[in-house]
Parts: sequence; structure tokens; C-alpha cells
Amino acid sequence: MPDFSTQAVVLRSVDYGDSDKIVTLFTSGYGKISAIAKGAKRSMKRFGGTLELFSLVNVVWSRRRGTGFPFLKEATAIRPPDRIRRNIFKTAYASYWTELIDKWIEKGDRHYATFELLSYVLGRLDDSEIDDSLLSMFFQVKFLALCGFSPNLKVCSVCHKPLDAFFGNRLYFSRIKGGVVCSGCGIHNNRDILLSRGTCKLLLWISNAPSDKALRIRFSGASKEEGTRLLEGFCVYCFNKDFKSLRFLREIRKEK
Ligand SMILES: [Zn+2]
Repeated sequence: MPDFSTQAVVLRSVDYGDSDKIVTLFTSGYGKISAIAKGAKRSMKRFGGTLELFSLVNVVWSRRRGTGFPFLKEATAIRPPDRIRRNIFKTAYASYWTELIDKWIEKGDRHYATFELLSYVLGRLDDSEIDDSLLSMFFQVKFLALCGFSPNLKVCSVCHKPLDAFFGNRLYFSRIKGGVVCSGCGIHNNRDILLSRGTCKLLLWISNAPSDKALRIRFSGASKEEGTRLLEGFCVYCFNKDFKSLRFLREIRKEK
């Protein structure tokens, strides 16, 4: 069987038997795969610390005949997540992003753009130059778009009236309609999320501007809270999953 070589981010790692690990990798060339890393649990010699969660690595693996897990033959570190590992908030954000990807993406489907996005945000999270919550908004907006759930922030999701023609400064975001709704349309209920016009425009900027410009934007504390609440709520609604890491992230933010 031929070997495959690709860059990958480590999404998950669980012990398997006395000495092995099953590692779930999000690869640049082959989508999500789970592979067996022989001896990774017992001996540090073969893989060292390279299979740590959120690491960017180069891996070599081979398929086995039949239905067994592929063999992970080599893993070389490209970017170990040193700062992420030492900071509980960064660890929580990275866990949330990787859980979103792990739960939504099926094994074997190729998602090169999503791999690039994840690798980029983990790198920026580790270099600590960008506010963590802004980075998380950026990731969620882009990931939603890649999955076909881009939130509509430009026109009323019912009558298509442009945002600039909406009355007042407070807007409603309907998860069911997938975007903002003007005051004349629909019955607003407690499932809708209230947000300011300013936050809406900031989210639009993040979703449309090139990444270096999008991440240079300054958010007020209130906008950051609104944008975070909107995107996290919308992700849970769209992907219809329970994200354990998001519950943890919300808990530690409350205690901050
Ligand atoms: Zn309307």
C-alpha cells in the first residue's frame, strides 16, 4: 500500500490499548482521517510531543487492507501550540473550533479551504497578536460561509429591504430566517437575537474584508459581546449539535 504525506491539524487523540493512540487529523489533502499511532501512548521516542491537540504537523500514513484504521507512520511538528496550551481561554477557543469541524465534517470529504482557515486561526491564536474573541468571530463567520450557512446581514431576510433603510438602531437577527429581519416583517420572539446596527456592520466587515484587514478592526466591548452571542447561537442552531467545548468556554468567560 502506498504512503500518503500531507499537512494536518490534530483534532482529537484517544488512548487505544496499552500502548497506541487513535489520532483524528484534519488534513490539507485528504479531509478528516483517524489513524492509529503505534506506540504513541507508551513511548515518546517515535512521535515525541508532535501529536498534541491543535498542533500543525506533517504526517505520513498508509491505508491498510480491509477496514482497520490507517497507520500513522511519521509526524513532524510544523507549529506546536505552545501559547494555546498554556492559556485556558485559548485552549477553550481552539477546542470549540476543532469540535465544530470534527462534528460537522465527514471523514474522507476534502475541505482544503476549511483546513486553511483552521490552520490560519490556530496560528494567530498562538501568536497572540489578535484578540481571541475577535478571532473566534472571524473563524465562525468564515466557517459558516464555507458550510453554506453564511448569515445574511445586508438586507431583511423576509422583504429584502436594505439594512440602511431599517428603522432604528436595534435590529433583530432571526436564526430561523438565517439573517436580520426588519421591524415590519415577522413576529419577533425570544428566539431572535437583538443586536445593534454597528455590530451588524462590523460582522459584515469581518466576513468580507481580506483576513489581515478584517482582523485589524476595533470592536467595543458591547459589540464583541453581541457578535459573540449571535455567532455562537447561530452555529449551535445551524449545525444542530451540542458542543461541549462551547459550554466550557461560556462557563470560563462568565467567571473571568
Ligand atoms: Zn422586512
